[in-house]
Amino acid sequence: MKIIMLGAPGAGKGTQAKQIAAKYDIPHISTGDIFRANIKNGTELGKKAKEYMDQGLLVPDELTCDLVMDRIQEDDCAKGFVLDGFPRTIPQAEALTAALEKIGQKMDFAIDVDVPDENIVNRMSGRRACLECGATYHIVAIPPKQEGVCDNCGSKLVLRDDDKPETVQKRLDVYHEQTQPLIDYYNKAGILKSVDGTQPMEKVFEDITNILA
Ligand code: AMP
Repeated sequence: MKIIMLGAPGAGKGTQAKQIAAKYDIPHISTGDIFRANIKNGTELGKKAKEYMDQGLLVPDELTCDLVMDRIQEDDCAKGFVLDGFPRTIPQAEALTAALEKIGQKMDFAIDVDVPDENIVNRMSGRRACLECGATYHIVAIPPKQEGVCDNCGSKLVLRDDDKPETVQKRLDVYHEQTQPLIDYYNKAGILKSVDGTQPMEKVFEDITNILA
């Protein structure tokens, strides 16, 4: 099963993607996580990506597409995968469609986790992330067991630079301009499904599993 998660930053698609990956035993591929791991390890890719990420801008397609195309051809993706944060532009979607066509495959579902803008800024300011293992929390909706400490690895939780209110508005503008057109793209491809992302997390997941069943 090959799934794309769509939705504004902060819509909860990462949380849902992790649960889908666990339930269907397929890899969760998050381009944001891949870039953050590269930043942490001080790679060339990480240095370049950080310049864009810190401003709330998208990392250019040429730095993004190849790494995803390589990743989805690894052995663990044979049964499928869930893409979280990719594609984010029409050229990325076209690159993905073309790469899969070449190997006689196609995506099965594009799931849009729909949340209005006014809910997003509030959600993002409460988000906390572990920069060590990539786990994310929310101070109200998904609190860690101990305040400020990652349940998984015990590292300190932080408000990511790109989750600060001034950057969130920029990310939302970028989302509407560059990523929202993908809803139409995947609707035309006949694989778009929408879920109401303002519902409690468990209900959003239930709606998604009903779609995938
Ligand atoms: P995320 O964790 O998915 O919210 O991504 C964090 C940041 O990483 C984004 O705001 C972008 O700067 C960058 N990023 C992640 N995925 C992509 C992508 N597919 N294309 C371009 N930039 C991306």
